[in-house]
Amino acid sequence: MKLVDLVPVALPADAAAVLPEEVLIGRGVRGALADAVKRHVGGEPLLVGDPDTLAAAGPLDLPHRLLDLGPHPHADDETVEHLRAARGDAPGYVAVGSGTVNDLCKRAAALDGVPFVVLGTAASMNGYASGIAAILSDGLKTTVPARPARAVILDTDILAAAPARLAQAGLGDLLSKPVSDSDWWLADQLEGTGYSTLPGQVVDRAVDAAAAAAAGIAARDPEAHGKLGEALTLSGVAMVVAGSSAPASGGEHLLSHLWDMEAIAAGRETRLHGAQVGVTTLISAALYQALVALEAPDFTPPPAWAEEEARVRREFGGLAAAILPQTKRKQARAGDRIDILRDRWPEVQKRLAGRAIPSPEALRATLKAAGAPASLADLDEPRANAARIFRLARDIRDRVTVLDLAFEVGLLPGAIDDVLDAAGV
Ligand SMILES: [Zn+2]
Repeated sequence: MKLVDLVPVALPADAAAVLPEEVLIGRGVRGALADAVKRHVGGEPLLVGDPDTLAAAGPLDLPHRLLDLGPHPHADDETVEHLRAARGDAPGYVAVGSGTVNDLCKRAAALDGVPFVVLGTAASMNGYASGIAAILSDGLKTTVPARPARAVILDTDILAAAPARLAQAGLGDLLSKPVSDSDWWLADQLEGTGYSTLPGQVVDRAVDAAAAAAAGIAARDPEAHGKLGEALTLSGVAMVVAGSSAPASGGEHLLSHLWDMEAIAAGRETRLHGAQVGVTTLISAALYQALVALEAPDFTPPPAWAEEEARVRREFGGLAAAILPQTKRKQARAGDRIDILRDRWPEVQKRLAGRAIPSPEALRATLKAAGAPASLADLDEPRANAARIFRLARDIRDRVTVLDLAFEVGLLPGAIDDVLDAAGV
């Protein structure tokens, strides 16, 4: 179907112009891949996958050259360049995979100015229709602009047959919506960066439907995986409509990104993005509850930059060079944010309370119904390290989130343990 038929509201023309034209979600739709590739790419494209994703897709009957990236590829600058060199004079890319393969093809296609089509092999993340690619660059997890696939094909038989932890991660990523959207609202309140309810109108109902299908996701029901695939696609659309990842990526994502950055720097495997985000969303939801209940804010300007710089260097070691510019830009605006908070905290707090962010308990019940990770123990993450990540995550990105607010009203770092307890993680 046309993407516009999936979206419940009218889209602004500039967003519609960059979004995928076609989205096919259903049983057996992999059979439509060859036609979609012919229409949107043509010729003999470079088909990119890894051994797992290529096996999940099964034999594909379309003209192509194959690039098998080998087991567990990373979405980093080096691999993007590997794709671009391998493409040669092929007219575009066909991504066969989910998060990593889709991001690699999206970024390479954007840099080359060629189209690509994706056959998704798992409902594990919301990047299929989004206008950004998450790429590791000099050790820093960055999101770079990149036009999404011309056609997104999600065969629910393939999605349901994928390892259960992938769809569980997709649901975890989606459940962050109420906290990340609140972070986006908050940044606008404190810095006037802009906020719109339209992205919420695009995706909210689909997220509710996917959450309601949580038990079916655990049971590998193709229809439940279809609901999840629709919501993940619309979550990508919501980011395009917003012109930013902000409505789907707030402070809860920063914890996950920092876990990834440290793992990669240490040569460890990363965990699934959405598996981490499901758990960090519980932390963010508990942090919002604590902020709404906060009785005596202690507005806390940051220390002088020299002191902050020394702290970032000490805390982040080899990652500090990539992180410092982000921390510095955000710190430079902290005085203005605190002025606004001093003036308007009671109103901001009241409006936060009115956003009806789900409780950690309600969110955890949905994660558990899907069999998704719902605690630090489920992630095999020591609590002391999670507390450290919780304290540091705000440093890695310039964008203001609930983490900054919590420090600037004096709730963090003192309440870290209490918030982790309240999150039930
Ligand atoms: Zn995410």
